[in-house]
Amino acid sequence: MNPVPFTPDEVERIADDVVEKYREHVNPGAANLLKFAGFGVPEWAGEGTIVRDMSGKEYLDFVGGYGVFSLGYCHPKVVAAVEEQLHRLPLKTQYFLSQPVADLCALLAEVTPGRLQYTFLCNSGTEAVEGALKCARVFTRKPGIISAVGAFHGKSLGSLSASGREVYKEPFYPLVPGFRQVPFGEIEPLREAIDQDTAAVILEAVQGEAGVRVPPDDYLKQVRDVCDEKGVLLILDEVRTGFGRLGRLFAADLYGIEPDIICFGKALGGGVMPVGAFMARAEIWDAMFGENPWLHSSTFGGSPLAAAAGLAAVRTTIEEKLPERAAALEPRLLGGLRRIQERYPAIITEVRGKGLLAGVQFADADVAKLVITAMGHEGVLVAYSLNNPCVVRLEPPLIVTEAEIDRALSVMEECIEGAASALDGLM
Ligand code: PLP
Repeated sequence: MNPVPFTPDEVERIADDVVEKYREHVNPGAANLLKFAGFGVPEWAGEGTIVRDMSGKEYLDFVGGYGVFSLGYCHPKVVAAVEEQLHRLPLKTQYFLSQPVADLCALLAEVTPGRLQYTFLCNSGTEAVEGALKCARVFTRKPGIISAVGAFHGKSLGSLSASGREVYKEPFYPLVPGFRQVPFGEIEPLREAIDQDTAAVILEAVQGEAGVRVPPDDYLKQVRDVCDEKGVLLILDEVRTGFGRLGRLFAADLYGIEPDIICFGKALGGGVMPVGAFMARAEIWDAMFGENPWLHSSTFGGSPLAAAAGLAAVRTTIEEKLPERAAALEPRLLGGLRRIQERYPAIITEVRGKGLLAGVQFADADVAKLVITAMGHEGVLVAYSLNNPCVVRLEPPLIVTEAEIDRALSVMEECIEGAASALDGLM
């Protein structure tokens, strides 16, 4: 991995300078929080499952960029594909067709379930969701969108309207009209909520930011049936779950359903480029682009560079059998977390997950934060859940080894032990 060329004095100077510039020009709250928690040294390089800061300290990464680094950092096949394209034509001319775009979209049509055939490439998950919502409205000519309580679909206005935590929504009211939420994992409230104005239902297969909420096994099939019965579209948001995370290439495969529209982001860029996408069946595409091929467009979306990264990422995920790997490692990760829960039942109330997406529900949000920080100091990064602060998330690259899972588990256990002793001391 790229070595750190700085002396300790230089690192201190650079770190102070970066924190100060963040305070003055980027995000003072984030800068203060990270500095206070002891993570004021900026990131430097990453390789595989390891990320290194500017002081040379290495971290085992179980945040995985919230699902971006499924292939780990700097996967050589993705880096090589991007480098080759970089020196020729990184961004699109806006005039000609592009071979990497054609190849990636054709590959996605081949590997995604059912009749999903056409793809629009964009730059982020939230853009993919925006496009999917527009597709649903233009196809049905209806305004209504139903999503789930606790959902996270992004932070632009449309996707935020479908998301589920007030603290991120209320300051921006009024949001887009026509959105309503029903409890996740329950079929009857959904059936009742659909009316003559409903265009689509949008769901995550497993809710990530809500704290890894796994629905009953037959939930998505029931949702599919209800959508068919009532004649509304089903949008599956696989921005987090797509490309192997849950132990199958797609969550739609795992739950045996065919969505009408699907959204991707995160891992699609192979950890090297920002790439988002939404896909749909031919007749839905026809409503969106049939009359006007530019009804929806993006200057940077579908750049040759992003498409080269996406193509290498999807091929590598399949060639290296990473979904199968996620499924095989699930019992080690979830089993290990459940053993920790058994030892600390007053601190951990539940362990949930699928594949290599795990959520540990703490009884107290402050203890969850303490554990995240303590694990970071011990060199293992785990994540906070935006829509459920009591839940610590583990989302390692799919290339993670058994030994690395064992290390993360033992560091988590030590940190929980530490938190338990500190709490005892306070009582
Ligand atoms: N959808 C889901 C399920 C997500 O988890 C996220 C991000 O975490 C998004 C959409 C939004 O993606 P982005 O942050 O790339 O806009």
